[in-house]
Amino acid sequence: MTWGDGDGFVTCELGHKHWGRYGAAGLLPYHDGYVLLQHRAKVTIGGGTWGAFGGARRRGEDPVAAALRETAEESTLDASEVTLRGLMHEDHGGWSYDTVIATAPALLEVRPASWESKGAAWVPVDEVAEHNLFEPFAKAWPRLRQALRRPVLVVDGANVMGSRADGWWRDRAGASARLRDQLGAVDRYTGIAPFDVAIPEKVLVVEGKARNIGPGDTDVRVVSAEADGDDKIVETAASIVAEGPDVLCLVVTADRELRRRCVAVGAEVTGPRWLLNQIAPKAVDTPG
Ligand SMILES: [Zn+2]
Repeated sequence: MTWGDGDGFVTCELGHKHWGRYGAAGLLPYHDGYVLLQHRAKVTIGGGTWGAFGGARRRGEDPVAAALRETAEESTLDASEVTLRGLMHEDHGGWSYDTVIATAPALLEVRPASWESKGAAWVPVDEVAEHNLFEPFAKAWPRLRQALRRPVLVVDGANVMGSRADGWWRDRAGASARLRDQLGAVDRYTGIAPFDVAIPEKVLVVEGKARNIGPGDTDVRVVSAEADGDDKIVETAASIVAEGPDVLCLVVTADRELRRRCVAVGAEVTGPRWLLNQIAPKAVDTPG
């Protein structure tokens, strides 16, 4: 590790002594039933135990940035190879810990790279609890293992657009492109259980005059319905669910019949207001 202004001990409001004056953060990469753990060197706090790579945040440093920086300092993992999926947050009052959940494309070879790490290993999720775990990680693990998923948002463009009075009826393609850009601009979402903060892939289903808007400059996957928009949304949700048990597909629509059909194929559902509050909080109920 290189010295940072967050290095130091604090006592939280629960009376524990913790490392990290501005809190701490760690990275938990996941691939196909395995998580990457750090075997902590004897000389560290909790020496000889297993936990997530990570460490103290610097003043004002985002927990994701801190987790990636610390992991890069402590291991040979190339952070650009993992995809961020969400955060789990623990607040002790005066100290907090964020675990950043990510997925890896394979069981990448990772070696320790600093004196703090004795080893690195991909551990089967079912065997994690059998390891001698770093105490804070042991406490967090039951929640963390629920969050080893890939969240995907599927947005019913016509329905979400229709739920805000911003003049969309005058220019459906323009309003759809605006929705797409707002979706693209926001990466972190609250209210997607079990994550405290989810970083989902985003899919926008468009139809009619909005059919040809494309992805623009965003990372949003835009799916065009050539015929019925509802059928396309169900088909899209079903194919995402079919990718495997680690995928969490959340469809955003207020349409009751469509919600029923999406739940029937294994997706979860939520309403437009939730989404609008995340991507454009000030625009809700303020036309113009
Ligand atoms: Zn504490």
